[in-house]
This record gives sequence, structure tokens and C-alpha cells, in this order.
Amino acid sequence: MPRIFIDGQPFDARTEQTVLQVADEHGIFIPRLCWHPQLSVAGNCRICVVQVEGRSWVEISCNMPVSEGLKVLTDSELVRAHRKATMQFLTLNHPVDCGICDKAGECTLQDYHVAFNGEPSISAEPKVASTKFYALSERITLDNERCILCTRCVRFTREVSKSHALGVQERGDHSVIRPAGGSAKKLDDDPYSDNIVDLCPVGALLSRSFLHRDRVWYLKATPSVCPGCERGCAIDIWHRKPEWLLRSPTPGAQRENRAIARVTPLGAQHGDRPGDVPSPHSAEAYATASPPLPWICNKGRDLAGLLERPRSTAAMKKGREVPLAEAVAAARELIGRARRPVALISSWASNEELLTFQRTLAPRFTCFVKSDHPPAADETVQDDLLIRADKNPNAHRAREFFGHAALTFPPDTDLVLVWGEGFDFATAPRGVPVIFLNAYFAPENGHADVFFAISVMTERAGHYTNFEGTVRAFLPCFAKPAGVADAEQVFEALAALAAAGARSDEAAMVTP
Ligand code: SF4
Ligand code: SF4
Repeated sequence: MPRIFIDGQPFDARTEQTVLQVADEHGIFIPRLCWHPQLSVAGNCRICVVQVEGRSWVEISCNMPVSEGLKVLTDSELVRAHRKATMQFLTLNHPVDCGICDKAGECTLQDYHVAFNGEPSISAEPKVASTKFYALSERITLDNERCILCTRCVRFTREVSKSHALGVQERGDHSVIRPAGGSAKKLDDDPYSDNIVDLCPVGALLSRSFLHRDRVWYLKATPSVCPGCERGCAIDIWHRKPEWLLRSPTPGAQRENRAIARVTPLGAQHGDRPGDVPSPHSAEAYATASPPLPWICNKGRDLAGLLERPRSTAAMKKGREVPLAEAVAAARELIGRARRPVALISSWASNEELLTFQRTLAPRFTCFVKSDHPPAADETVQDDLLIRADKNPNAHRAREFFGHAALTFPPDTDLVLVWGEGFDFATAPRGVPVIFLNAYFAPENGHADVFFAISVMTERAGHYTNFEGTVRAFLPCFAKPAGVADAEQVFEALAALAAAGARSDEAAMVTP
């Protein structure tokens, strides 16, 4: 275990570490643009230079192995001069169009310019123009003028997603990132392609769905869990900060206030800038993420499409909207009469909801876990990186609670409770009453004998347990719409009424 000295402080390092890794481990910040902890060392940006004591030159710390007694300086006069010169070089042909750049506010180049340079360009030459808005794929646009050729995006497609979709064409100041082999096909086929947008330290790679949609300082990141498959990746859901909510009462403004602006891996927007470590989230968010994965797949980025479908917002009895209390009373009556009720448990339910159901209603029901979401026709079903075949975030935990049995209705089934999406109502026993809990608009909602509009995961807190047994927390981003209840509240109210034997105890009713 070699002992090294960084800025005069002694640290015990591991032999396989570099100076930059030792500095990171001990909270000493060394800037980096091309270096990333999950990618190979490229050493091309030269911003991470340090000075070995006694030498009159600087060297890159991302590729400097540790050795016994090594003494490095991270902030000597020589290092500062080199960082400043490097920033001058990196911004030589940069368009400095920060005012219209989506990356502004979280751009590493912007922050390093302020921290290490702070002066206008000293070049007397005109900037070299390059391609703006190059369509790298259907999801990603590339601004070559902003690119600093760090090659993080190229290395990601070679080393992580393995699509080998990108490369560098030409030389010198004509170098550009382009699809490898001249075709954008491979990046379109890469289900992890959008990670390069997070990886890009500048605003060169931009998500087309987020393009010019928001300024990041209007947005807040809420720690959450991707429900797209049983991997349950730890994510940040970005939405308007409370202080920046639009005040206009128009439907468009109100929709915007409840919109998911973008989804990124938990903490992915942090790590390259001074003061970025530790992350902006509470230790609890990270403790339950153990440890947060640095990537997510594109399906996880598209959660808005999944979670912002038209909602159901009122309880119903045979298709007629009724107050929640009336629906609870009707459901309780059905449950009270049933001798062989069957419950189909949602594999999108949180651990807390599953526990509540088990504690309250499960003893009366024969329970089967159902798949709320089968794989879509056009999605990657499973791969070696993250994507799992089961497209439900909590199937593992639900089966721990309610078993693995495949659904078969006993012949004397006299009530079916369906919790969540994914059930083909044509397969239910004919003429048997149905209680249905669903968050989204569906024709089946109105056909159920009793229907409850329930909250979605962005409206409540909870935990999911993934297929490896990792428990991750999600927090609410938005308030529930009026008329919507949490499934937990519905089960508690049904159990409370059943226990009290009351016909319609308003005090025990769920409230929106
Ligand atoms: S596009 Fe971004 S990530 Fe790719 S080389 Fe350029 S600066 Fe680096
Ligand atoms: S692999 Fe993709 S779909 Fe599955 S949880 Fe992670 S981001 Fe979501």
C-alpha cells in the first residue's frame, strides 16, 4: 500500500490506483473533462494536470500511477497556469452560445472557465465553424462547434453499450464526432444511447425530447426508481421547482407544472464540477440506491410517456362517478358477501402497498401476482447490461408476499379484485362482480362493478425491491389530483369498514 502525498497531505493508496482516483477518494478535487470513473483513460483533455514536486513540468493525474513517496501538487502556480492555458485552448473554437444551450447551468466547461480561466479568448483568429444540429440519431442531436473531443461518447458506445456506434472523423480542428462507418443506424439501435447526453461535459450532445424545452435552473430532481423493468434503476425525475411553477391557470401551463421534463440516472448530472461531491441528494437517497447505477436505458428516459397517459380521476359504480366513500361502501359490501374472492396483485405496487394489502384484505382473498406490463413489441426484452425481461419493478417482492402461482380462477370464484393494469377482463369468470383499481383511463374502468382511481408512483413515496433484492426509494414529485386515492388508503378503508361492520362510516373513508 504505497503512501503518497497530495498537496503535502499523506494518503495510503492502493497500487492499482491513479493519483486522480486517490484525490477523489479523499475529497481533493482535480478537474476532469475526458476522464470518467466508468470509462477507460483517454488522457486527451489535459485539464487534470498536477505537478510532481521538484519537477518543472506538469503531468496528467488520470493516468499517473501511484508509487511510494510520490509527492504531487494540485494547485501550484505551474498547474494553475496550465489549466488556464488548457481552458483557453478548449474554448478557442467554442461558440460560447451558452444563452441558447440546454447544458447551460450544468455545463462543466462553463464552470471550469469561471474557476480556472475567467478571461475572454486571446485568439485573434476567427473561430473554426462546424456543423450545428447534426442528427446523430432520432433521439440525439450533435453540435460540433461545442464539442471538445473528449471522446467520452465514443468510449461509452465501445466499452459500455458495445454498439460501437460513434467515432472521430478527420484531424486537428476539423475533427468531428460522427456515426462509425457513416451510418446513424447503430446509435438508433442502441437502447442505452442517451447516456452519452449525460456523459458529454459540454452542450454538444443534446436530447431531442428536451431540446430548448426548459432551463435546468427551473427544474428540481426528485430521487426515484424506474418502473420500466425489474432492474429498478435509481433515477432522478426532473420537474418544475415549486418556486418556478407557472401561475397561469391555462390547461397548458397547469400541464407543464405537472410534467416530467426529463429523467436521468440518480446523481448523473453531478461529479465533474468543484463542490459536486457529495451529490445534491440526501444520504438516504443514496443509501437505498446502494450504489446508484451510472447508466439507465432509453426506456427509463421515456417515463413521461408511460406515466403521463390520460388519468382516471374519479371512483365509479358500474361506470357512474360516485364519491369515494360510496365506492368504498359498495366494495366492502361485495367483499362481505363473497365466499371465494380472488385478488390479482399489482407488480407495480410498492413494498408498503403490498404490506398493507397483506395486512388488511389478503386473508379474505386467494391472491395471484399479475404482470402489469408485458414487454412492448418494439422494445429490447433482455440484455447483459441492465434491461430485464420482466417489465414490472416490484414483481420480485410481490411474489415474496403472495407466491408464484399462475393465475387460475377457482370454479366457485364469486368476486375478482384487480389491482393495476395488464389484466385481460375477457378471461375473468363470467357474471362475477369486479372491483378494479387503476390509475389510468381505460374502457374497463367503467365496466367494473366498483372502480377506484389510484395514484401513480410520482404522486406518493415508497420503495421497490428489485430482482437482486436491492431496495430503492421513490419520492413524490406532484400532488395527487382531486378524486384520486392511494391504493393503501383504499385497502385501509375497506378493512376499517369491514372490521367495524359499519354500512357507511364516513369517518373511516379515504379522502383524496
Ligand atoms: S460530443 Fe461531447 S462527449 Fe462526445 S467527444 Fe464531444 S464533448 Fe466529448
Ligand atoms: S434497465 Fe431501463 S427499463 Fe429497466 S429499470 Fe433500468 S432504466 Fe428502467
